[in-house]
Amino acid sequence: MNKIIDGKAIAQQIKDECREKVAQLKDKGNKFTLAVVLVGSDPASTVYVKNKKKACEYIGIDSLSYELPEESSEEELLKLVEELNTNEKVTGILVQLPLPKHIDEDKIISAIDPNKDVDCFHPMNIGNLSIGRPGFLPCTPAGIIELLKRSDIEIAGKECVVIGRSNIVGKPMALLLLRENATITIAHSKTKDLANVTKRADILIVAVGRPKMITAEYVKEDAVVIDVGIHRDDNGKLCGDVDFMSVAPLCSAITPVPGGVGPMTIAMLLSNCIV
Ligand code: NDP
Repeated sequence: MNKIIDGKAIAQQIKDECREKVAQLKDKGNKFTLAVVLVGSDPASTVYVKNKKKACEYIGIDSLSYELPEESSEEELLKLVEELNTNEKVTGILVQLPLPKHIDEDKIISAIDPNKDVDCFHPMNIGNLSIGRPGFLPCTPAGIIELLKRSDIEIAGKECVVIGRSNIVGKPMALLLLRENATITIAHSKTKDLANVTKRADILIVAVGRPKMITAEYVKEDAVVIDVGIHRDDNGKLCGDVDFMSVAPLCSAITPVPGGVGPMTIAMLLSNCIV
C-alpha cells in the first residue's frame, strides 16, 4: 500500500502550533513583525508574497509590505534593507526572489541583518547551519525534514540521494539530512549514470527543476520520494519534478504536487519568524 504524504495537513499542524506559540509569547509581551519586500510584479512572486502575508495574519503576527517598481535600482533596494535592519519593530525581513536581473541577489541577501534573515539565505546563517550551530533553518529543506519526521519515516542511517545542488534547496537539504545522521549523495547535471545513483536511495529528494523527469527507472522499490519541483504541464496543471503516475506504484511514500512540499515552505517560514 503506498502512502501519499499530506503536506497540506502537516503544514496546517505547524501553522496551528505557531499560532499557539504566538499567543503565549504575546502574553509575555513579545511581538513579531515580518517585512516583505517585492520588487516588480512577477505573477508567481506576487502570489507567494500574498500567501506569506496571509499566513502571518493567520498565526497572529504583523506584516509590512514594501512593493518597489521593477526598475528600482540596487542602491534603492539596499537602502530599504538597511532601514528595515535598523527598524526595531521589524523582527524578520524577506526579500522575495527572483529579483530583476539588474540587481545582484547575493549582494542584497548579504545586506540583510542575519538575525532578521527568516529565509535563512544569508551566508552567516548557512555557515552556522553547516557547523551545527543553532539558528534559522532554510525553509524548504526544513519543511522536508518535518514531512519525513511527522510521517514517521526514519532518517538516521538511511541512504539519501538529493538531486540538485542549488543554494536554496539541494545544498542546505544535504546539510539538514546529514544533521539527522543520514548518508548523503548529492547528484547534479554532471552526475554520470543518474539512475544508477538514485536507485541507491532509501529516501530520494528531487529538486532538479525539470517537469516529470524522474520516472520509475530512477527509483528503488519501496523508496520514499520527495518531490520539490513546481511546474505547470502542457494542460496548465501543476506538476512536480517526479512523474507521479510512474513512480507512485513502486515507492513506499511520496509527496504529491500540489499539496506536498509547497505548503511546508511557508509553514517553516512562519516558524522562523517567531524564533
Ligand atoms: P535550480 O535550477 O537552481 O537547481 C537545479 C539543480 O538540478 C541544479 O543543481 C542542476 O545541476 C540540477 N540538474 C539540472 N538538470 C539535471 C539533470 N538532467 N540531471 C541531474 N541534475 C540536474 O533549482 P532549485 O533548486 O531552485 O529548485 C528546484 C525545483 O524546486 C524547481 O522546480 C523549483 O521550482 C522548485 N522549488 C520549490 C519550492 C517549494 O517551496 N516547493 C521552493 C524552491 C524551489 P547543476 O548544478 O549542475 O546545474
